[in-house]
Amino acid sequence: MIAEVIVDVAVSEVDRVFDYKIDCDNVFVGSRVVVPFGRTFKSGIVVDIKQTSAYPEDKLKRILRTVEDTPALTEECMQLAKAIVKRYHVPMALSLRLFLPAEMRTGKVREKNRNVVTLVQGCDKDKILSELKKNAVKQIALLSFVEEGKKYLLSDLSKTYGAQAVKALEEKGCFTINEERINRSPYTGLDENFKQVNLSAEQNKAIESILKSDKTVQLLHGVTGSGKTEVYLNLIKRTVNSGKTALMLVPEIALTPQMLSQLRARFSSAVAILHSGLSAGEKFDEWWRIRSGEAKVAVGARSAVFAPLENLGLIIIDEEHDGSYESETNPRYSTVDIAKYRAAYNGCKLILGSATPKVESYLLAKEGKYNLVEMKNRINGKQLPEIIIADMKRELRRGNHMEFSRALIDELTDCLNSGNQAMIFLNRRGYSQQIICKDCGYVPKCKECDVSLNYHSVGNVLKCHYCNTTYNMLSACPECGSTNIGFMGTGTQKVVTRLNELFPKARILRMDNDTTQNKDGHFKILKKFSSHEADILVGTQMIAKGHDFPAVTLVGILDADMSLYFSDYRSGERTFQLITQVSGRSGRADKKGKVVLQTYSPENSILQYAVRYDYVGFFNKECSIRKMTNFPPFALIVRVMVESGDDELALEKLKEVYLNIKEIYDNNKQAFLFFNKMRSPIKRIKNKYRYQVLMRLKCGNGKILDEIYTVAEKAKDNKTLVYVEENPGSMS
Ligand code: ADP
Ligand code: ZN
Ligand code: ZN
Repeated sequence: MIAEVIVDVAVSEVDRVFDYKIDCDNVFVGSRVVVPFGRTFKSGIVVDIKQTSAYPEDKLKRILRTVEDTPALTEECMQLAKAIVKRYHVPMALSLRLFLPAEMRTGKVREKNRNVVTLVQGCDKDKILSELKKNAVKQIALLSFVEEGKKYLLSDLSKTYGAQAVKALEEKGCFTINEERINRSPYTGLDENFKQVNLSAEQNKAIESILKSDKTVQLLHGVTGSGKTEVYLNLIKRTVNSGKTALMLVPEIALTPQMLSQLRARFSSAVAILHSGLSAGEKFDEWWRIRSGEAKVAVGARSAVFAPLENLGLIIIDEEHDGSYESETNPRYSTVDIAKYRAAYNGCKLILGSATPKVESYLLAKEGKYNLVEMKNRINGKQLPEIIIADMKRELRRGNHMEFSRALIDELTDCLNSGNQAMIFLNRRGYSQQIICKDCGYVPKCKECDVSLNYHSVGNVLKCHYCNTTYNMLSACPECGSTNIGFMGTGTQKVVTRLNELFPKARILRMDNDTTQNKDGHFKILKKFSSHEADILVGTQMIAKGHDFPAVTLVGILDADMSLYFSDYRSGERTFQLITQVSGRSGRADKKGKVVLQTYSPENSILQYAVRYDYVGFFNKECSIRKMTNFPPFALIVRVMVESGDDELALEKLKEVYLNIKEIYDNNKQAFLFFNKMRSPIKRIKNKYRYQVLMRLKCGNGKILDEIYTVAEKAKDNKTLVYVEENPGSMS
């Protein structure tokens, strides 16, 4: 038998495939193997097993050994890896990499073995105790301590009773000492307080609807605090009870300690956690616990979608609208698409859960392609918090130049006086790129694309990131004539300083990229806030996600506008999501919650829908705009990026790529809504010069997309990076 082996999976940018003879019996497709290569040895993965090779038999070398007895990659993983190669036009080596934790690919981590001591079965403890000399105190104590059927770490016993005592008893035939594999378990410090609840009628209805449905994808649209987590847990339990496994994805695991502790409390060691913050050893062990079938439930962020669970019975993607589910490195896969593939392969269901589903997802549900499951009420009939709009233009006119409106200060005062907690949210993405008239709230937009313009200090101009039209920087506002034009936004640190001045007695925590640098940064801040060691939590996007703090009765949103004017066709959608999610943190327990939403454009329809919690109204409006302007999900944005450290090389490559795609364009003009080449909005990132060919395709043109991928694939070389992005999350 002959094995086809890809070597250098960890580092190679191209597939290096070689044939080897098999003469041991544990080589399978998906096995990691060590093979002779030139004068050295390399590790590789078996991608195929065949009868004959195109090479003469006597020239073929033999596989030296397998790394593990079980193939690291399952049959399903191998199939999926091939599908990814086809869909995203990447080398197999790159695709295979997705399925192995980084540490494993390099072969530097191994399982951890420890010496374990057990009492020999049938050993007559009393007899031996009576035979021991009176002064063998340690041996007596040790032998009295150990019980039959239990395991003890040699290191622990040696520490307490001395290595000699253990050794002596082993020699007397009382103990056996064996090497055993030990799991390094992450998050052992989680509070595992099991919260027993009776499901609400709405939760029961949702579960029933999901179980009864014959559709693969279930869109669980439940308002914030409707108890989606309990629905997930219940369905996971059913899955595990029926002998199958479950996969649960969350946007960022560091931000979901509550979810983890609930899972641990209910499934204890049957849960495995995959998370970039784990140590190499922990990751290795958790991964193998899944692969070996010991763990029945795997939970993790985006990359956990590749977890090697077999016999999958359920996949859940929580907060499905979250941007973190789109990969931003090659291959630029969509997590939902991968999950759909796995659900189809295993014949199981995929649940997409959110209070604010993506427009694209809700549309598919409306069209009947997904089963739409709705939970419209909060648990125990609690009300969604009232959202008060604070008009910042009016504040300015009244002479208030602070970051906080009068309304927010009043509400904060009340909240703190009654011993409750508050969260203050700041939008930090895209900071300083958008300009705004500070008097009337006017924001300049592109005439062609209906997205707001970005300021470019080079040339002092405004640019549209979708069509590259350049506009002059405003000297005065075209709406009201004011010259008070400025940038949007403020910083978290400044907000904390101001709050300290206003509320000197309040204890304030800050959570942003600066304060969460170290491993447990998020965890510590959240824990501190949840145990009420602080009164106010100030933060960025990180505080918007899924938290459940019962004492929070006030949420302040300082600059709701910011994301509204990102130069992105999804800015309306993102703003609606953000406001709904952030507001959802308020009034989750017995106390009624409030939200103060500060904005320069109170009449904006997106904000109005958000204030009324009118998702469907928002969706209908947004859908009609996207349809009219030909944006996703009614079209596909494709961007081919060319990057190089050398500006001239990049430009040359751009021309080549452009001409090749132009040919596709010329032959299929009817399929294109837009086609152009240009410098990227940000000309240089990390010393790489960036150019792009930007297109918008009508839906259903997979073949043309494939051709574009092929152009990019052929064009890239050692000095220039060429890659394709579909509906990129950022247009910078
Ligand atoms: P969502 O994810 O939909 O925003 P959660 O799942 O976080 O909501 O649930 C909100 C709160 O309600 C949590 O504190 C949760 O423990 C509680 N909860 C959920 N279901 C029930 C129930 N059936 N009875 C009582 N409390 C519940
Ligand atoms: Zn103005
Ligand atoms: Zn434009």
